[in-house]
Amino acid sequence: MNQHLTEQIDALLPQTQCRKCGFSGCKPYAEAIAAGRADINQCPPGGQEGIQQLARLLGIPPKPLNIAHGVPNTGRMAALIDETMCIGCTFCVQACPVDAIVGAAKQLHTVIAAECTGCELCIAPCPMDCIRLVSADAVPMPAPQDARLRHRSRSQRLDQAERLKKEQPENTVSALVHDLPSTTATERKKAIVQAALDRALALRAQTDNNQPSMQP
Ligand code: SF4
Ligand code: SF4
Ligand code: SF4
Repeated sequence: MNQHLTEQIDALLPQTQCRKCGFSGCKPYAEAIAAGRADINQCPPGGQEGIQQLARLLGIPPKPLNIAHGVPNTGRMAALIDETMCIGCTFCVQACPVDAIVGAAKQLHTVIAAECTGCELCIAPCPMDCIRLVSADAVPMPAPQDARLRHRSRSQRLDQAERLKKEQPENTVSALVHDLPSTTATERKKAIVQAALDRALALRAQTDNNQPSMQP
């Protein structure tokens, strides 16, 4: 593989890490273009301008965006979580390619808008349908080099967790499991029910505490 060319192509990609190109991130798409396995018009976030830049780099004619891969967003978009609905299941954290969501298990989750690339990958896994993309013109898009770094460090962390899991299945993988894809639908369902139950109990306890005490 031509590593230098891959780096040059990757430098022109927007680093949204949305997978709309059909690859698991910008770098794999760059590798595929460099190897002649993918066309230059598969990246909706890069749009026509990105295609022009890739065509210039490769010395080939540009072509229209292949809309089978999607269309560019109109304006800056970022994810927003309705925190009144969130049950803290962490599925969105597991899905976010750039670590733009914070929150621990069974606690409310929040998107760091300045780090969100608007990739939409967190929306489908949310069992409560409480994540949506909103217009975020006031928040600048994360710099591509920052999004790339966060994506790389996340990938390294997941690789390390997978290695640990294989080497020592009984190891303290629980510390890292927050970042691993959930394994089965049953486990996901159990986690959702448990989180919802915990949340309901916590809300009820809070309501009880706020009730005026009964007078004798
Ligand atoms: S921004 Fe999305 S579509 Fe474009 S190269 Fe990166 S992962 Fe692929
Ligand atoms: S918060 Fe959601 S939309 Fe934003 S980068 Fe993460 S997965 Fe993508
Ligand atoms: S996936 Fe939805 S319910 Fe689960 S933590 Fe994220 S926002 Fe909350």
